[in-house]
Amino acid sequence: DQAVCAPLPVLGRDVTVPLVTGGEVTYAALDYAASAPALQRVWDDVAAYAPYYGSVHRGAGYLSQLSTDLFENARRTVTEFLDCRDGDQVVFTRSTTDSLNLLAAALPAGCQVFVFETEHHAALLPWRDARVTYLDAPRSPRQAVETLKRALAERDPHGPALVCVTGASNVTGELWPVRELAAVAHAHGARIVLDAAQLAPHHPVSVRDLDVDWVAFSGHKLYAPFGSGVLAGRADWLREAEPYLAGGGASRKVTRRTDGGVDVQWHDSAARHEAGSPNVIGAYALASACKALTEAGFDTLVAREQYLVAKVREGLADVPQVRFLSLFGDDAPRVGVLSFVVEGWNSSHFAAALSAEYGIGVRDGLFCAHPLVSTLLGSDPQTQGECGAPEAAPGEKSLNAIRVSFGAGTPDEHVERFVRAVK
Ligand code: PMP
Repeated sequence: DQAVCAPLPVLGRDVTVPLVTGGEVTYAALDYAASAPALQRVWDDVAAYAPYYGSVHRGAGYLSQLSTDLFENARRTVTEFLDCRDGDQVVFTRSTTDSLNLLAAALPAGCQVFVFETEHHAALLPWRDARVTYLDAPRSPRQAVETLKRALAERDPHGPALVCVTGASNVTGELWPVRELAAVAHAHGARIVLDAAQLAPHHPVSVRDLDVDWVAFSGHKLYAPFGSGVLAGRADWLREAEPYLAGGGASRKVTRRTDGGVDVQWHDSAARHEAGSPNVIGAYALASACKALTEAGFDTLVAREQYLVAKVREGLADVPQVRFLSLFGDDAPRVGVLSFVVEGWNSSHFAAALSAEYGIGVRDGLFCAHPLVSTLLGSDPQTQGECGAPEAAPGEKSLNAIRVSFGAGTPDEHVERFVRAVK
């Protein structure tokens, strides 16, 4: 087992935290699905570049030129990381939420949107100006494909349509049948956007192989610091849309009209949706993380992560009070994200005890996927818990859950401590 490669060096490995029982312990960050620690390599790259950064696309000075090159190189790195098609655009955004809101703002008139109710709110909610069909939670990958097929067969076949789907659930970690869903979408004349916030840090994502039209992900879940994200894919809808933000950088030419107003010609490139001074360090860090993961090799990373998933599952197999949450079944393929409830325990208290007594950081709650967690817990949507709300009393039905998640930087000891603590 130990032959499964070493964890990648990440920041925060030596951080110690106080225990309520006295003493201190190194912090076990087991909430990668919320934000993963930055890779040491990414941090080193950023530190090496930091003294040199300057404004992008704006200055004649050497450092501005350098920064512009690094920013555009970062775009090329992401293009390669995602195996984009010729002509695809890579837009730098703030996050997955930002990327999906950008796409929502770029939908053609009359666009119908199809989204499973199981999505993270970032994928469920941005489609405010569209006609949205919310699809019921499927209980198998095959049912997901059938559900989408049925819904698309009933749609107005003439108008534009978009399907939005997750690659890996932020609640159950389960992998979704993205390639099959993309094929169904395209067979019905619809397009598809992949929410890869949880998939990209754990698996290679090929836009070309999966045949998705767009993909969105966040730097801070991919071992880069906060503040950067990506929307990559087809250029046409993005080029035809009004700029996401209006301002400098997005505008190619602005002229005063004789009637007193102004005429604007917007860029057709990714710059159209990147108005304002871009987050060059964020983009650089995100690209550095893409390179580091590619160099480490996803085969190796996946093998290590599956070894850790097995450690949790096998370690807790003889604890009958622990119930893992899944849509597709306990054995369904998943990334290193597992949610569970502990019979007789309040999930929030349980998570607080893991922190206070063992120095383990997990998440409790509804994970910004309220309809999904409510389905998984079998709770009544009208009375389900709220984020941050106190949970059911011990002995009552759980209103929220506990999530443990890990990845490329997780040492065995963190997972072993977690299993011991839960036991
Ligand atoms: N989609 C999924 C599946 C996620 O897990 C998350 C983050 N929890 C998001 C979207 C949103 O990502 P961000 O907060 O970086 O915008």
